[in-house]
Amino acid sequence: MPKFKPCNYAQMTMLPISLENQILPGSLEHTIHEVVEKHMDLSVFDQRYNNDETGATAIHPKILLKVILLAYARGLLSSRQIERACVENVTFIALACGYSPDHSTIANFVSTMQAEIESLFCDVLLVCEEMNLLGGSHFSLDGVKLSANVSKEWSGTFDELKRKRDKLQEKLQQAMAEHRQADAQPEVELERQQQRERRLQRAVERLEQFLQSEQPKTGSDGKEIQSNAVDNESVKMPTAHGVVQGYNAQALVDSKHQIILAAEAFATQDHDNLEPMLTGAKKNLKAIGKDETFFQGKTLTADSNYHSVESLTFCQTEGVDAYIPDIQFRKRDERFADRDRFKGGQQKEAPFSLTDFTFDPDRQRYLCPQGRELTLHARSQRNRYRIYDVYHARPQDCAACPLRERCLSKPSASRRYLSVPTTQPPNLLDEMKAKIDSPQGKKIYARRLAMVEPVFANICVHKHMNRFTLRSKAKVDVQWRLYALVHNIGKICVFGTLN
Ligand code: SF4
Repeated sequence: MPKFKPCNYAQMTMLPISLENQILPGSLEHTIHEVVEKHMDLSVFDQRYNNDETGATAIHPKILLKVILLAYARGLLSSRQIERACVENVTFIALACGYSPDHSTIANFVSTMQAEIESLFCDVLLVCEEMNLLGGSHFSLDGVKLSANVSKEWSGTFDELKRKRDKLQEKLQQAMAEHRQADAQPEVELERQQQRERRLQRAVERLEQFLQSEQPKTGSDGKEIQSNAVDNESVKMPTAHGVVQGYNAQALVDSKHQIILAAEAFATQDHDNLEPMLTGAKKNLKAIGKDETFFQGKTLTADSNYHSVESLTFCQTEGVDAYIPDIQFRKRDERFADRDRFKGGQQKEAPFSLTDFTFDPDRQRYLCPQGRELTLHARSQRNRYRIYDVYHARPQDCAACPLRERCLSKPSASRRYLSVPTTQPPNLLDEMKAKIDSPQGKKIYARRLAMVEPVFANICVHKHMNRFTLRSKAKVDVQWRLYALVHNIGKICVFGTLN
């Protein structure tokens, strides 16, 4: 017979724990503890509490902040997970000073931090500056589109949402009718039907309330765009992995140790965010004693999603030495000439571009490679790159054309549209092309990848920030900034001299 040690669950065991000894110098939890205790102005939280005369004592905000920062660093995003960690994990117990904040206290603390987060972020940035962790010469901007705590199912134009409400209403009526006829059914089945009815009722009420209290949203062209009945500030955004209903989380990073100078979540595309991000970074830097002209003459790199007339004009006004390529820059780069060599099958010929069309000044028309005429369709159209006129061919010419495949944007297109820029060179866009294509430009731009992408990898993969757990722009913004804050504290832990 095998022999085992006895198992007696009825015995008493005492585990003496020194809370202080759990927070080891050199660890991230120690750095969080030190930064929050010694370098953050926590008086910003005072106005939240008015229990000085009456009411129960509250858990100190520094405890909640430390616990949340450590939880985010370890990929615990939900308040229930954080609550559990404060009971089960000795490091969290030590940081929480033995208290066990419940999930609603934690969730409420994070979601109402809009007024304090900026000041806390600047406090940490000041520590970075005092430890000489900021290089101050080269910055890089990037963003990641993250899902909000909402489903795409609740998105649509007002007409679509009304149709959805009506369908749900129908289903609810049907479920109630089935319920009335089903009194003889077993208890379990009745309970299931009641749950379904309640779910449908809630969905109908949510849509009804939304349709009555909100107005349709319109896009830049004045047409109605999709609203979302749960988080109407979130938007549908395309990503490499499909469309997400969420926010675009941005970070401006310093090159020396990848310290984040500004972080914010937007409901707009990258090319709209350069100006607010640089303005936000200037505000943060001003708070730590830098002057208004900090970015003058400094290098800024950002990917082609930020390339627009507005972004480049703003950089020029601010005196920033920007490197923001257009979307075609890889095609012009001889180093990427053979980048399609791994693509299977026969390589397609390059599609016809403006240079393949000939302008006839007498008739003010373009001639296509097939010798057909393209007439003026619209003048002075605008996109984020330039102002342009549009010419188009006749559908009957393109219908039977042997060059269709090479000329039309998609097989189902009925005719060719040709955009002709009216902005005369040299302009900012052409200057940027020349700058990016120069050997110096290529060298500087190549640094962007190693500078800013690891920051997003650290936050989104290592720290598991792959979707927001809150709703509304103000709240997800707090969550994103807390992640930026803990990222900077991590840099202090590795490169700083606190310990
Ligand atoms: S598709 Fe139309 S525009 Fe293009 S080459 Fe043929 S006829 Fe000309």
